[in-house]
Amino acid sequence: MKSFDLVLKGGTIVTPERARPGDIGISDGRIAAVGLPGTLGNAAHVEDVSGLHLLPGLVDPHVHFRDPGYTYKEDWQSGSAAAAMGGVTTVLDMPNTDPAPATAQAFGAKRAIAEAASHVDFGLYGLLDEKSLPHLSALVDEGAAAFKCFMCDTTGDLPSPSDGAILEAFEILAPLGIRTTVHAENASILEYRARRLKQAGRTDAHAHLAARPDVAAVEATHRAISFAEWAGARLHIAHESCAASLPVIRAAKARGVEVTAETCPHYLFFDEADLERQGGHLRINPPIRRRHDAEALWLALRDGTIDLLATDHAPHAPEEKQGEAIWDVARGIVGVETQMRVMLAAVADGRLALCDYVRLASEAPARAFGLYPRKGSLAPGADADIVAVDLSWRGAIDAAMLHSKHAFSAWHGHPAAGRVVDVYLRGQRIVAEGALVGRPGTGRMIRPEMPAPAPRNVDLTLEAETKRASL
Ligand SMILES: [Zn+2]
Repeated sequence: MKSFDLVLKGGTIVTPERARPGDIGISDGRIAAVGLPGTLGNAAHVEDVSGLHLLPGLVDPHVHFRDPGYTYKEDWQSGSAAAAMGGVTTVLDMPNTDPAPATAQAFGAKRAIAEAASHVDFGLYGLLDEKSLPHLSALVDEGAAAFKCFMCDTTGDLPSPSDGAILEAFEILAPLGIRTTVHAENASILEYRARRLKQAGRTDAHAHLAARPDVAAVEATHRAISFAEWAGARLHIAHESCAASLPVIRAAKARGVEVTAETCPHYLFFDEADLERQGGHLRINPPIRRRHDAEALWLALRDGTIDLLATDHAPHAPEEKQGEAIWDVARGIVGVETQMRVMLAAVADGRLALCDYVRLASEAPARAFGLYPRKGSLAPGADADIVAVDLSWRGAIDAAMLHSKHAFSAWHGHPAAGRVVDVYLRGQRIVAEGALVGRPGTGRMIRPEMPAPAPRNVDLTLEAETKRASL
């Protein structure tokens, strides 16, 4: 009989299809076999995980680890430690760092920082802005996981690109097959309304929502989808917060547009009533909206309009999260370490099925960004990224126990379920009995492998028309 490096024995294996008792055999960092209890035979090492549920390591496609450039907020070591402790074994890091990975050189420098410090595997976003267009294909060659396009302003000095540049970028990226994630809010509406509200003396927490009305998200979502559909580019809608945008996404999917969408736990659990209570802690872009938005997002997770969960983990120093006026407060919330536990509380309450959670938090993000089935799967051949969870644990989030540099957040005291006991990354235990035991630098960069691209209107691209003019 075959021998394994490691067998996890006696657990309940959870996949998007089912949860049932079984053993997992691991060799050379990969899952080598999955079998009924007691059927796997010899192993160099056997770990008894009786009573625990084994989930594929979470894939969080939206984190800001702030490194390089803003390491007083977070860095690769602290951010990836928080990820590991939250059962997240793969992260995709956003490009609003300084310098931004907008050239092959800056991308390589960021990769070196992450490789030296990361506790978990990672992909790196390239920046899509007005100036990065000549560098997009070199960034793909370097292994960019995807591109991020900020359609409005963000943390860091990164002006949003013009519509002309976004369309040209989609024309360049469509034949490369790589996905572009957009922050879809209309910059002009946001700037105009913020200016007028400030003039009117509004400084309260609600003013942040008032400056970013639903229609600003609906319009930008529609525009991004129009450009992606025209060019045949793959698109991802980041941090969907808004009920009114959902029909736009649903209709695009029905037309066959290659668009995926994510939402984040803070849009599912908080609403404008929490803005009063939490003030600047809940200043987040896009804003926390109304109760009916949260309810619509839960439904959209079930009907497939929203494909997956991400955290938009976006830490700031405590003094940046306070201010006299809401306009002075930095925008973002931590979340990479708490996502699993707040979502498993919803599972415990019967709001979400455990198998659906695994699909939303692990398989679907891996699929959307070309990492599946190496990531997001417990099938033989997959990387042995496995989280052993004690589902009997129920409690509340304690910010003092979190590993982010600045963990105090709106999640403190929030209901939680499921204690992360052990985490394996490529067969190596990085969390043992709830304690971080992995070393910084264990994480590796992973490159996306996307399906064959399907560009459209290729004879009408800016490049094609430019060549035509020179004939
Ligand atoms: Zn973000």
